[in-house]
Amino acid sequence: MLVLGIESSCDETGVALVEAAGIAVPRLLSHALHSQIDMHQAYGGVVPELASRDHIRRVLPLATRVLADAGRRLPEVDVVAYTRGPGLAGALLVGAGVACALGAALGKPVLGVHHLEGHLLSPFLSADPPGFPFVALLVSGGHTQLMRVEGVGRYQLLGETIDDAAGEAFDKSAKLLGLGYPGGPALSRLAEQGDAQAFKLPRPLLHSGDLDFSFAGLKTAVLTQARKLGEGLPARKADLAASTEAAIVEVLLRKSLAALQETGLQRLVVAGGVGANRRLREQLDAACARLGVRVHYPELALCTDNGAMIAMAAAMRLAAGAQQASTDYAFDVKPRWPLHEIVAA
Ligand code: ATP
Ligand code: MG
Ligand code: FE
Repeated sequence: MLVLGIESSCDETGVALVEAAGIAVPRLLSHALHSQIDMHQAYGGVVPELASRDHIRRVLPLATRVLADAGRRLPEVDVVAYTRGPGLAGALLVGAGVACALGAALGKPVLGVHHLEGHLLSPFLSADPPGFPFVALLVSGGHTQLMRVEGVGRYQLLGETIDDAAGEAFDKSAKLLGLGYPGGPALSRLAEQGDAQAFKLPRPLLHSGDLDFSFAGLKTAVLTQARKLGEGLPARKADLAASTEAAIVEVLLRKSLAALQETGLQRLVVAGGVGANRRLREQLDAACARLGVRVHYPELALCTDNGAMIAMAAAMRLAAGAQQASTDYAFDVKPRWPLHEIVAA
């Protein structure tokens, strides 16, 4: 079975082709991505209207490329999957509209996928795919959640951020340091030249006794520190970046270990853009090795948004019987859509 996946929830247009056969883990045949980062950079963040218009321009050429790369033709596609939410409404509508139009034209069913389920299942595309059950640390630009995952569509929320997401903490701190948008990767690169102990920054909710996170106070602390440094900031920027990264990573690490202990599970899956962070990977690897816990990550290129994870999640949902593809092409999108809401279905 061939699944074409389309991702357009925010500022990357992603298309991918996945082949699923029986109970085997579906296989990625090809994927293509267009990031709008350059376009939004001038505005310091994503401009929704520009994002929608650019998805319209990119999605069909990307689909053509993906099919050509896999040596397949459009009529061979069995299911067209798309990101139904959460994300920017106008951006989501482009992917949903194109997917449903393709499905209707081909006479093939369509399937709307939860963007975060895509992130969550993206490690199944890696060379070292996990097995169920596991604790998932979902750390992206808009979400920070710990989840107990028993199987496809069986997600129990253990804890989540009460304000900013981890990726947002990276991005907002990076913006304060003049590192552009999205600043997470830039801040992380700069941090490699800095001293992570140079500045004492807060570790919010570290000892809260639950599995929730809070990152809003951190950016204020970074701003305060930057102001205090004044003209001395440029010389200490790498130190401040390293200290910021260390604060975020320590909280993610401690809470992940607490979630493993609370659930008694022996496997951790990290997903979402912040999962690309080197310091986070090093610290999780070291701590989990000591505990005998296996850690799984998506391939670096598939940590941030992409079409492969959407095609993969669709194929896995179909294989698990968690959802059926539909020939009702009257699509809708869900800009706000908590992941645990799909569990009941
Ligand atoms: P969501 O999935 O919650 O809707 P999103 O799709 O915008 O949000 P992702 O694409 O998963 O989020 O990830 C983007 C985020 O990952 C950004 O905040 C970015 O700064 C962060 N990020 C990417 N690479 C790194 C890195 N190496 N270190 C830290 N943060 C990173
Ligand atoms: Mg993005
Ligand atoms: Fe995402």
